[in-house]
Amino acid sequence: MAEALQPVRGTRDLLGEDQRRFAHVVDTARRIAALYGFDEWATPVFEDTRVFSRSLGETSDVVSKEMYSFTDRGGDSITLRPEGTAGVCRALVSNGLTQSLPQKVFYAGPMFRYERPQKGRYRQFHQIGLELIGPSEPQADAEVIALGHHILRALGIADQTVLELNTLGDAASRDAWRTALIAHFTVHRDALSEESRQRLERNPLRILDSKDAADRALVGDAPLIDGFLSDAARAHWDGLRAALDRFGVPFRINPRIVRGLDYYSHTAFEFVTEQLGAQGTVLAGGRYDGLVADMGGPATPAIGFAAGIERLSMLLNSPPPPPVPVAVVPVGEVAEAQATAILQAIRSRGLRAEAAYRGNLKRRMERANRIGAVAAVIIGEAEAARGVAQVKDLRTGEQREAAADDVPAVVAALVAA
Ligand code: ATP
Ligand code: MG
Repeated sequence: MAEALQPVRGTRDLLGEDQRRFAHVVDTARRIAALYGFDEWATPVFEDTRVFSRSLGETSDVVSKEMYSFTDRGGDSITLRPEGTAGVCRALVSNGLTQSLPQKVFYAGPMFRYERPQKGRYRQFHQIGLELIGPSEPQADAEVIALGHHILRALGIADQTVLELNTLGDAASRDAWRTALIAHFTVHRDALSEESRQRLERNPLRILDSKDAADRALVGDAPLIDGFLSDAARAHWDGLRAALDRFGVPFRINPRIVRGLDYYSHTAFEFVTEQLGAQGTVLAGGRYDGLVADMGGPATPAIGFAAGIERLSMLLNSPPPPPVPVAVVPVGEVAEAQATAILQAIRSRGLRAEAAYRGNLKRRMERANRIGAVAAVIIGEAEAARGVAQVKDLRTGEQREAAADDVPAVVAALVAA
């Protein structure tokens, strides 16, 4: 026998209930997003590498260590998308929509990052995401966050999460903060991890996000952005919190949140949970006013988020069950022919119906029970000759005869009971 092949490390097959959970998350998010006027876009799974290297920042973990990039047969550098926002902004520019604002975009699909696989962290994972492109007002930030909260509520998992909120200020605020952070960490340079020493020169904000224990100790008393906010940045921050109060979305300020990608400004937020260990962030986003310009468009404000479908699925109690089946059980060749018409008529009514391809009455009834059928439609030679069927309620054992044309209505009543 040939060697049995396995899925690639960090990828998973989703079968049956796993995929039902997954689909429930996507369907729910899509439905709630539509209530807020968001329309779905699907952009390609791979892009010109520059779509990501320009936008996420060369020093970000994603670009420096996690991207699946390759040169294709034509010599172009291609990258499997590690996230969805850059592609949406690229598409906005490619499709000439930069003057048709606002654009309210929902997306869902696979993302790829070369990470160390563990619970809640995969190399192919999936996100739902939203982008509100155009408005710069803090009310827009609040509405996107409220929408994220609404999705979590609709999934029944909002009370397992906490919204953590921070501001990263505008460019002027961040420059001043950056200088203060460099000064702080330079004093403790020798105690920093090797990686953070490199970050110190290139991107000191990222030290705040370090998972290294020695770094974490120094992060504790690093300066906060609060002391460096410009008037405009402070007004945005105050406006956001007031708007969130009006939406009735509770939050906790966490001055240590920085997003892993370089394109964020002002608002940064995460819905976190304690149920998933180290992989506790289920939904994360922020304002990214510079990204559309990075893609060659005009300066365009925008705010959005992405949520990991795997992590959301793990928090779900139980996914909606598949529809309850009806079994169609013909006995004999003549009956087979009539069974097909009844099978299709039941399905046309919007009910699940299944028939086995072989076996005697006993075997077929066993199978009906195994799939959890609530009713069996039994057609023998005699029934077939008279154009009728026996409809058996498998919960009570009760059986009655029905004309073939009436069978769909009779079983519908049993399914609904
Ligand atoms: P983390 O800190 O967990 O690495 P991140 O900051 O890299 O997250 P984002 O780029 O903000 O994550 O992505 C948004 C969401 O996508 C995350 O909050 C998480 O739910 C999910 N996510 C990110 N990377 C992975 C992954 N490798 N596997 C599964 N889900 C992921
Ligand atoms: Mg990450």
